[in-house]
Amino acid sequence: MFSFEKEYDVIVVGSGHAGIEAALAACRLGCETLMLTQNLDTVGQMSCNPAIGGLAKGQLVREIDALGGAMGINADATGIQFRMLNRSKGPSVRAPRVQCDKKAYQFRLKAQLERQPGLEILQATVSRLLVEDESARGVETDIGISIRGRSVVITAGTFLRALLHVGELSKSGGRMADGSSGLTGDLLKLRFEVGRFKTGTPCRINRRSIDFSRCQVQLGDEPLPRFGFLPLPRENDNDLHTLNWTKNGKFHVEQLPCWITNTTSKTHEIISANLHRSPLYSGRIEGTGPRYCPSIEDKVVKFASRTEHHIFLEPEGRHTEEFYVNGISTSLPFDIQFAFLRTIPGLEKAQILRPGYAVEYDYFPPTQLAHTLETKRVPGLYFAGQINGTSGYEEAAAQGLMAGTNAALKVLNRAPYVLSRREAYIGVLIDDLVSQGTDEPYRLFTSRAENRLALRHDNADQRLTERGFQVGLVDSARWKQFSEKRSALQQLRDTTEKTRVDGEFISHLMKRADFSLSRLPSEIASLAPEDHWDLVVADAKSEGYIRRQAVNGDVSRYDEQAIPDQFDFARVNGLSREAREKLARHKPTSVGQALRMSGVTPADAAIMSIYLKQSRRE
Ligand SMILES: Cc1cc2nc3c(=O)[nH]c(=O)nc-3n(C[C@H](O)[C@H](O)[C@H](O)COP(=O)(O)OP(=O)(O)OC[C@H]3O[C@@H](n4cnc5c(N)ncnc54)[C@H](O)[C@@H]3O)c2cc1C
Repeated sequence: MFSFEKEYDVIVVGSGHAGIEAALAACRLGCETLMLTQNLDTVGQMSCNPAIGGLAKGQLVREIDALGGAMGINADATGIQFRMLNRSKGPSVRAPRVQCDKKAYQFRLKAQLERQPGLEILQATVSRLLVEDESARGVETDIGISIRGRSVVITAGTFLRALLHVGELSKSGGRMADGSSGLTGDLLKLRFEVGRFKTGTPCRINRRSIDFSRCQVQLGDEPLPRFGFLPLPRENDNDLHTLNWTKNGKFHVEQLPCWITNTTSKTHEIISANLHRSPLYSGRIEGTGPRYCPSIEDKVVKFASRTEHHIFLEPEGRHTEEFYVNGISTSLPFDIQFAFLRTIPGLEKAQILRPGYAVEYDYFPPTQLAHTLETKRVPGLYFAGQINGTSGYEEAAAQGLMAGTNAALKVLNRAPYVLSRREAYIGVLIDDLVSQGTDEPYRLFTSRAENRLALRHDNADQRLTERGFQVGLVDSARWKQFSEKRSALQQLRDTTEKTRVDGEFISHLMKRADFSLSRLPSEIASLAPEDHWDLVVADAKSEGYIRRQAVNGDVSRYDEQAIPDQFDFARVNGLSREAREKLARHKPTSVGQALRMSGVTPADAAIMSIYLKQSRRE
C-alpha cells in the first residue's frame, strides 16, 4: 500500500454535483482538500437532461449562488436557453431554468476545480474508508493508495453497486460507459442501513433526423433570467470554458430553440404490448423509481386513459447534433425503443445516438445523518447527494455545499452551519431528509416549504449572503456587491414609505394587485433600476400573506386535530397524489402525524386541516 505523506483536512469522494460544491466550499473555508473521482472526464456530468433549475430547483440554485457556490454561475456561463417558469404566477413560485451545453458545463467546472487554491484532484476509485477510534480518518483506493484525511465527504451518486438495464440485458455501471462502485460493502461493515432506488434516462437522437416542421418551437425568454447574483465576467476576463459573457455591459446569449411533440396512441400500443420485456415490469428491477420523473412505461400504465404525453426535444449543446428526448425515459429493449420512437410526430426517421436505460443503485437512508449531513454512526464522515436518496443535480449540489462546509467547520473546530426551514429551501430539503427519511427518490417542491411565500428565488441573496459571509463561504467581492445592493434597496423602501402619489404612499400602492411601475411619475420610477423595484414590490405584495401565514402556520395545533378511523383520503380535493397514496397506506391518526410523514407537505396538511374542520361543522 502506498501512503500519501500529506494529511488533508477534507477528502471528497466523487466529482458530481454534490462533490463539486462540497470540495469548493471546503476550500473557501481555507481547508486543504482532496477530491477523488472514478473518472476525471465526467466531472459535473449531467447524467440525464442537460438543464439546471426548474420549479423549486431553480430556487435551490439561487441559494447555492447566494452562498458563493458554483452551480448557478456555471449554468449561466454555459447556458443555451434561459427560461423563467411560472412567469405568469406569483413571484414565490417563479423559477429559472437553464438548458446548458452539456460538455461546456463539465469542462468549465473541471477547469474551475483544477484552478481552485487549496484543492487537489486525483482520478481514483475509493474502495475503503479508514476509521480510527470510530471516526473517519481517510480512504484507500482500489489501486492501493492510502490517504489520510481529518474528515471525509462521500458523494457517490448513482454508482453504489449500480446495475444498468436495457430490456433483458443488465450490466454493472453507475452510468452508461462508466463503472460501478463497491463502497457499499465497506459501509455495511460499519453497520449503515442501505436501500435500493432506480432511475432512468431516455434515448438521445441526431438532430439531422428530426422533422421539426411537425413539432412546436419553444424559445428562450428575453430578457434572460440568470441564476448568478454577480455579473458574469466580461469577454476575455479569464479563459475558463465560458460560452456566454457580459458584452457591452449586458449579458448576451445566442439562444437555441427547444421543440415540443407528443406520444401517440400507437406509441402507447407498442409500449403496452412489450411491457413484459421491460425490466421494470418483468420484476428484474427491485429499486423504487422517481415518482416525479416516471419512465414512459410507467406513464402508459399509470395514466392509461391519456392518449398522448408531451415530449420536449432539447439540444445537448452548441457543438453537437445530439438531442435529448425529454419525457420518454425507458429501460425497454433497443428494438422497442426504436419502434415506439418512430410513432412520434417529427421523429418518424429519428436516428438513435444513445439508447435509453435504467440504473439501480444503493442509497443510505438519510435518517442516519445529523442536520450537518455528518453520519451519526461515524463522526467525521459526511454523505451528500443522491447517496442520501434524493434525485436531481440541484438537490445534490445543495447538500454538497452544506456537507463540505460542515466537514470543514468541524476540522476547524468551529460551530456547524445549519439552515432552517424558514430561511431556505436548502433547510427544507435537509430537514425533510434527516427528519423523515424517504422511501422513494426525493425531489424538492415549493409545497414542501411552510414558508414558501418568503423563499423566493430573487431574494435568496437577501436571505443567505450575510450569514454566508460570516461563515466564510462568501468572498469579499460578493459581500461588497451585496452590501451595496442591500443599501440601495433599503433607500428605495424608505422612499416608497415617504413619497405619495395621487395622495397615497407608494408603499401602499405597491400592495395592490394591479400596481405597475408605469403608474409612478417617471422621475420616481427612474430612482432605481427595474430589478430593484421588482424586489421591493414583490416584498410589499407578499408582506400581508406572510404575516397571516405566520399566524396560521403554527403546526403544533395539528397534533390535536384527529383524523377519524376509516377516513377516506380520496374524498379530500387538492391533496397531492403522493400524499393521498401515503396517507391511505399509513393511516395517520392526527394531522400532526400526517405532516411528519415523508411525502406529505405542509400544503397537504393545511388542506387536510381545513377539510376536517369543514366536515365537523357540516
Ligand atoms: C441514467 C440516469 C438517469 C437519471 N435521471 C434523472 C432524472 O430524470 N431526474 C433527476 O432529477 N435526476 C436524474 N438522475 C440523477 C442525477 O444524475 C443525480 O441526481 C445527480 O447527478 C446526483 O449528483 P451526485 O453528485 O450525488 O452524484 P453523481 O452526479 O452521480 O456523481 C457521483 C460521483 O461519484 C463518483 N464516484 C462514485 N463512487 C466512487 C468511488 N468509490 N470512488 C471515487 N469516485 C466515486 C463518480 O465517478 C461521480 O463522479 C439520473 C441519473 C442517471 C445515472
